[in-house]
Amino acid sequence: MLNVSTTFNIQHSTFNIQHSTLQRRPTMSTLSHTQTKDRPGLRLQLNDEFIEPLFVALTLAGIAAGLITEQLGAPAGVHLAVNLATYVVGGFYAVRAIIAALRERTIEVDLLMVIAALGAAYVDAWTEGAILLFLFSLSNVLQGYAMRRTERAISSLMELRPDTVTIRRGEQIVEMALDEVQVGDVVLLRPGDRVPLDGKIQRGSANFDESAITGESMPVQRGEGAAVLAGTLNINGALDMLVTKPASESTLARIITMVSEAQSRKASTQSFLDRAEQYYAMGVIVSVLLFITLVPSIFGVPFSENFYRGMVLLTVASPCALVISVPAALLSAIANAARKGVLFKGGAHLEELSKVKVIAFDKTGTLTFGHPELTDVLPQPGVSAEDLLAAVARAEQPSEHPIARAIMAYANAQGLSPAEPEQFAAVTGMGVRASWDGEETLVGTPRLMAQAGVDVPAEMLAEMDRLADEGRGTVLLARRGDRWLGMVTVMDRERPDAAEKLVALRAAGIERIVMLTGDNARVAEAMGRRLGIDEVHAGLLPEDKLRLVEELGAKYGPVAMVGDGVNDAPALAAASSGIAMGAAGTDAALETADIVLMSDDLGAIGYAVSLSKRTQRVVWQNIAFAMAVVVVLVISTLTIGVPLPLGVVGHEGSTILVVLNGLRLLAYRG
Ligand code: ADP
Ligand code: MG
Repeated sequence: MLNVSTTFNIQHSTFNIQHSTLQRRPTMSTLSHTQTKDRPGLRLQLNDEFIEPLFVALTLAGIAAGLITEQLGAPAGVHLAVNLATYVVGGFYAVRAIIAALRERTIEVDLLMVIAALGAAYVDAWTEGAILLFLFSLSNVLQGYAMRRTERAISSLMELRPDTVTIRRGEQIVEMALDEVQVGDVVLLRPGDRVPLDGKIQRGSANFDESAITGESMPVQRGEGAAVLAGTLNINGALDMLVTKPASESTLARIITMVSEAQSRKASTQSFLDRAEQYYAMGVIVSVLLFITLVPSIFGVPFSENFYRGMVLLTVASPCALVISVPAALLSAIANAARKGVLFKGGAHLEELSKVKVIAFDKTGTLTFGHPELTDVLPQPGVSAEDLLAAVARAEQPSEHPIARAIMAYANAQGLSPAEPEQFAAVTGMGVRASWDGEETLVGTPRLMAQAGVDVPAEMLAEMDRLADEGRGTVLLARRGDRWLGMVTVMDRERPDAAEKLVALRAAGIERIVMLTGDNARVAEAMGRRLGIDEVHAGLLPEDKLRLVEELGAKYGPVAMVGDGVNDAPALAAASSGIAMGAAGTDAALETADIVLMSDDLGAIGYAVSLSKRTQRVVWQNIAFAMAVVVVLVISTLTIGVPLPLGVVGHEGSTILVVLNGLRLLAYRG
C-alpha cells in the first residue's frame, strides 16, 4: 500500500545512506540501491517515481476506453482486452508489492485490494474493479509524494556538504574531493563557505551560523583554537582550519545517519499495529470468504449480488488508513525536530517523552553553563596563596573535569605551568588524588577526605558552609601530605533564562522538576530556590543519580533525565527518556541519550516535550478516525449496501486524510 522507499545517491561513497523510511519492500529497494551504485545511469527508483503516476493515468484512460468500447458495442474480445490492459497497469505496483511481501511471509493490504478487483471482474463489474485499482494506486502515489516531504529534512542536511574542499598542502593550494581530505589537512575557508568537516580553527576568527546543526539562530564568534563543526556556515572570516575528523565521522554525518535510522525505527504503537495488521488482514479474507459462501444459502440472496457485496466489504474493511496513521505522524515530527537541532533516536522516544511527568536535571552544564571559573584562593594560616594554587593546579593537571579546567585556566593566567603529577587518580563526583615527591595531594569534597581517612577540622567545614551560603559556588578543600593547604572556590554561572524555561516546562505539562547534582547541598539548594525547583538532591555520585531516577520513576511516573551525557550516562540510560544537552561535538552524548539536543538551549526541552505530546495526539486522532471510517463503511455495506466505487472513495479518502493530518506536524512551531 505504501510505496515509499527512497535512496539517497550522494556522490561521496561514505554517504550512501540507504534511507528506507516506510520501506515495505526491502528487497526491491536493496536491488535498486546496488544497481545505482554500480551503474549510475540506471535508476530504477527514480523511474518508479515517474512510472507509477503514469500507470495511474493509464488506468484512468483504460477505464474511459472500456466505457467507450462498451457504448460503441465493440466485439466482446476487444472489450475484454481493454479491460485486461487496464487491470494490468492499475494492478502492477500492487502485485509487485504483494509478491515482495509474500516472500517475507507477510500480507499487504494490497492483497485485499487486488482480490476485490479480481472479484469484481468475476461478477463482470470490470469498470468498478478498475476504478478501485485506479483510486488505490492514485492514493499510493499521493501518499508517497506526501511522505517524501518528511525526508527533505534529511536531504537538506546532506546538501550542507560541499563536493570539493580547498586544502593547503605546504605551499600548494589544491581542490580535492571531500572524501580524500585527511585528518591533519588544513582547509581554507572563505567568508560564506560551509565548513566541510569537523575541525579546529588554526588561524583567523569568524562569526558562525550554526543553526543547521544546533537549531540556534544567533551567530557565534569563534577564534583560534575553537572547534567548528561540519555543516555550519562561516559568515565573515578567512580561516585556516585543521581537520580533526574524517568526513564519515563528522557530527553532521552522524546526525544524518541517526535521523535516517530514527525514521526506520518503529514506535511500539507502530510495531503493534504492524503485527495486528497481519491477523486483521487474514481475518478480513476469511470473513469475506464465509460471507460469500454462507450468506446466499442462509438468507437466500442471489450469489452474484452477495459476491459483489463481499468484494465491497473486502475493500472497505482493509486497514490502509490504520497502517499509515502512525508513521505519517512520527516521521513528520522527527523531521520537524531534526530541523530544530533536536534529534529523536526513534519514534518510540517521542512516545516515551509524551508520557513524562518528571524531569530531572543535572546541574553542571545543564542549568548552569558548565564553564566554571576559579573565584577565590583561600589559604590556611601559614600557607601562601601561591603554594596553595601551585599544588591544586598540579594535582588537577591531568583531569578533564570542568572544575579542573577552571583551575588550570586560572593558574595559566597567573603564569604557572604545573608539571604532571607522578601519580594521579580522578575520584568521580568527589575530586582528585595526585602524588609527587613522595607526598599525596587531595583536592575535592569533604567526602573525598573521608574516603582517604582524614578528618576535616570543624572550623574548615564551617568556613565551607559560610562560603557556600554567600553563593561563592563550589568550594574545594586541598590537603598535601598531612597538612591542610586551604580552599579554592569555583563558580559556574547559572543560565540566565533557566527559571523562565523551567516555567515553560510546567506549562508543557511537566508536573515535577528535580535537580540531581554532585555539588555541595547548600550551593545546590540556593540555586534550586532561585529557579523554583521542586526537589534538590545534592552530593550525589553517578550511581546515586541512577538510583534517584529509578525512585522518581516509581513515585511519580515516567522520568526524563537531562544531562551532559558524559558522567551522567548511567542516569540517562535509566530514565525513560534520556536527554543529552549541548551535544554538538561531544561524541559520548550522541551515543548515550534517547533524545539529543544539539544546542545547549534549555528551551529545546520544552519544545521537544510539546512536540511529543502533539504527536501523540495526532497519532490517536489518526487511529480513531481510521477505525471509525472502517466501522461506518462496513456497517453501511452490510445494511444499506454501498457501490464499490463509493466504498473505495471513502476508504482511500480516509487514508489520504490521515497522511495529511500527520504532515501537519512538519509545520509545528512549538
Ligand atoms: P555534577 O553532578 O554537578 O555534574 P560532578 O558529579 O561532576 O558534578 O562532581 C561533583 C562534585 O565533586 C563537584 O561539585 C566537586 O565538588 C567535586 N569534583 C568532581 N571532580 C572534581 C575535580 N576534578 N576537582 C575537584 N573537585 C571535583
Ligand atoms: Mg555533570
